Amino acid sequence: MKFKSITGTKDLLPGESYRWHYVEEKFHKLARRYNFREIRTPVFEHTELFARGIGELTDIVGKEMYTFEDRSGNSLTLKPEMTAAVVRAYLQHNLGQQQPVSKLYYLAPMFRQERPQKGRLRQFHQFGLEIIGTPGALADAEIIVMTADYYAELGITNVKLKINSVGCEKCRPGYKEKLKEFLRPKLSDLSEDSRRRFETNPLRIIDSKDERDRELTEKAPLQKDHLCNECNEHFTHLQDILREADVEYAVDGKIVRGLDYYTKTAFEFISSALGSQDALSGGGRYDLLARELGGKNVPAVGVAGGIERLLLVLEESENAAVEEPHPAVYLAAADDTARIWLYGITQQLRRNNIPCETDLMLRSLKAQMREASRQNAAYTVIAGAEERNKNEVVLKDMKAGDQQNVPVDELVHILQKQLPESK
Ligand code: AMP
Repeated sequence: MKFKSITGTKDLLPGESYRWHYVEEKFHKLARRYNFREIRTPVFEHTELFARGIGELTDIVGKEMYTFEDRSGNSLTLKPEMTAAVVRAYLQHNLGQQQPVSKLYYLAPMFRQERPQKGRLRQFHQFGLEIIGTPGALADAEIIVMTADYYAELGITNVKLKINSVGCEKCRPGYKEKLKEFLRPKLSDLSEDSRRRFETNPLRIIDSKDERDRELTEKAPLQKDHLCNECNEHFTHLQDILREADVEYAVDGKIVRGLDYYTKTAFEFISSALGSQDALSGGGRYDLLARELGGKNVPAVGVAGGIERLLLVLEESENAAVEEPHPAVYLAAADDTARIWLYGITQQLRRNNIPCETDLMLRSLKAQMREASRQNAAYTVIAGAEERNKNEVVLKDMKAGDQQNVPVDELVHILQKQLPESK
């Protein structure tokens, strides 16, 4: 075959898509329970939005974006993350004027040209939450608590929450200097990536994945120990709320996140089931982003989590079995004279919320019965000329194996009694 899907992208085939529906529906429902409202933004934006909103010096902007010029010479980029796009929409449509706090959620594809491996793709999908308009630690907690609740609802238990504070404009510059003082004598031993980051983004050096870097930075000063009073109070407050909400967490001073606009809270949910790409989701407070995008100061906090990674973990959790839905009823024609009539009955069932299937290929009754078993139908409805003349059908319980003649007028009622989910 000449054409194949692009490296790092995946086709979602019918044998898997029901699992996506399952996790997406759970997220929509939970969002409703927490009163978040959905936002959808275009799949591409002006490149400048991400360059500004994520930071020129980050890996995402520096080497991973899918950027192209359109026919009018505009530089456009497929979105590598959602927060900058959400804040752009928030500012553009003045959402802040409609209500003081906006609680928004999304489910959307993201694009990054990374080296593909297990749990790392070039088109992947994220769920996310953003609360825009309040500086309080309660909002940070609300984001974290709902994310924890989502994993719990899905039956995922092997997940750990790590939290940290990355300070603010007031306390970060002083800390950065302390960190650089600590790193300077070790500079020549650090990895090439870390050496490159020393001037531009030294905070990222302490969350390096490189073994040697990790050894060298083991005793590095941490921002959480050098917070100003305001950041310190915020961090303490957040922990009080998490304890009150029964959410387990560990403080980890090395969670720094790769993006420039984070302030105060930074956190990650990680899972041991994932191997080296162990981050299930991550987020934090980004009080500086709206201003960076040319708006006024608007405090905000959010989270983004990978759906593909969530599904990998879900596969390994025994208590999280998801069953593929199947037609409750298969309608099989015993002869050609009954086919069209039976199709009418199929539609009656469907209009009454009973999931069903019928033969579209004019197959023999035997072949249709085999298909009914293959599709795991709980019931089969069989009719030929004789049943049609009496306006009844044969209803067969596929598990028990017994069957009965049923008047067509009563079929919906009988099936609804047997299939409570169709009511
Ligand atoms: P980030 O926006 O980098 O903070 O990522 C948030 C979450 O998105 C991560 O914790 C992952 O679950 C997921 N994620 C990020 N990059 C990828 C990728 N290339 N492939 C699959 N999932 C990803």
